[in-house]
Amino acid sequence: MTTHTEKIPCTLIRGDGIGPEIVDAALHILDAMKAPFDWREQTAGLVAIERGGDPLPETTLANMRETKLALKGPLTTPVGSGFRSVNVRLREALQLYANVRPGLSLIPDGRFTDVDVVLIRENTGGFYVGVEHFIPIGDDPRAVAEASGFLTRENCTRIAKFAFEYALRTNRQKVTVVHKANILKKLTGLFLETVTNVSAAYAGKVELEERIVDNCAMQLVLNPSQFDIILTTNMFGDILSDEIAGIIGGLGLAPGANIGEDAAMFEAVHGSAPDIAGQNIANPTALLLAAAMMFDHCDLSDMGNRLRHAITQTLQTPSTRTRDLGGKLSTTDFAKAVIDRL
Ligand code: ATP
Repeated sequence: MTTHTEKIPCTLIRGDGIGPEIVDAALHILDAMKAPFDWREQTAGLVAIERGGDPLPETTLANMRETKLALKGPLTTPVGSGFRSVNVRLREALQLYANVRPGLSLIPDGRFTDVDVVLIRENTGGFYVGVEHFIPIGDDPRAVAEASGFLTRENCTRIAKFAFEYALRTNRQKVTVVHKANILKKLTGLFLETVTNVSAAYAGKVELEERIVDNCAMQLVLNPSQFDIILTTNMFGDILSDEIAGIIGGLGLAPGANIGEDAAMFEAVHGSAPDIAGQNIANPTALLLAAAMMFDHCDLSDMGNRLRHAITQTLQTPSTRTRDLGGKLSTTDFAKAVIDRL
């Protein structure tokens, strides 16, 4: 087993809505494991707006640039407030270009019991660049809405290499590139072309197949176990990863990692779930699985595996699940149940 004498500095953002509750649960479990992280707590989201007006304060970014590692609760971007999404700003500022979202069947009585897919999403471009505007006609200032998507060959190559290297590292056999090159011929056509070019270097080691996004969405519902790695653009990745979360049992089970050359940030796929905030009923599993990914990232896979094993054991029976999965446990009691199984 790896032993660590020096602690690893890690930025901690509790986040909005259910964020503080699930982060607390995760911290209890990581403490019980004696995880070697030196938490550097920072603010972002609504709390940061209240304190200083900016949902992503420069001090938080500076801290993340220093630690190069973060565990983050979900952040709310107020709708129609003029603020750009904090999550998108974070990914851009730290160039966290690869979003890795594993979807694994963890519930033995779930709809599908053999899903093991990793969605890898280009995290910096596409329609998320925020270039959109209205065109006025007559007296209607918002008669036409226009949005632009951007992808560079360089960014497509970067994410394609990441996906194939990830496949090699994790013993996965197949990458399915998902696009809409029949309609968005240039934007997703460049993505498809670049991924295909990059795949040549991995021939015989990792297979490449392609799917149009609508077909992929249907195939995921019919037979999700056919997929190994799905590699796709920013918005398709956002939509398909929620679909995968639904297939494996819900958003409460879907973790995500945002990886760049210089930093990595780990979080749940879900948002801040304001509808259930403050009630101690949120499922912390997604954030816990993200923490397990963070262990792997820090070469602490033994701890990652130990945490994943305890979570899987806890989810075996409905009586030790949270409400979103048909159980009765509160967030804090679920955390205790995981600690009991460590
Ligand atoms: P965003 O736009 O940030 O994705 P959203 O409100 O559209 O936010 P979520 O916050 O992810 O989406 O919530 C979607 C639904 O899933 C809500 O009904 C919420 O209560 C539920 N949900 C999300 N996360 C959890 C969780 N960890 N445990 C239980 N229910 C959850």
